[in-house]
Amino acid sequence: MQTALPVTSPSAVRHVPERSCVACRRRRPQGEFVRLTKVGGVWAIQTGHRSGRGSYLCFDTPACWTEKRMKRMFGAQAATLSAELTARLQGVPRPSITPALE
Ligand SMILES: [Zn+2]
Repeated sequence: MQTALPVTSPSAVRHVPERSCVACRRRRPQGEFVRLTKVGGVWAIQTGHRSGRGSYLCFDTPACWTEKRMKRMFGAQAATLSAELTARLQGVPRPSITPALE
């Protein structure tokens, strides 16, 4: 019944893309990050569909959202983004921005 084809197409394999945190450089599955995108020269926290240039920060690690650590990547916007991330993510137990990803 089966036709075993020697297909080695990468798209056939269920693949969880790995990303690394811009603050601590840890590599994790994409679903464990909060994504920030730069659109029109301005960084913003992204919760919906993907577009633009993205950077990732650990979803569950407040140390990665401090202004000090974010400054390297986000420059003058680090303070604003840090405050926004803290307000949004603090107290959130596990990644829930992209629940369907895994
Ligand atoms: Zn991190």
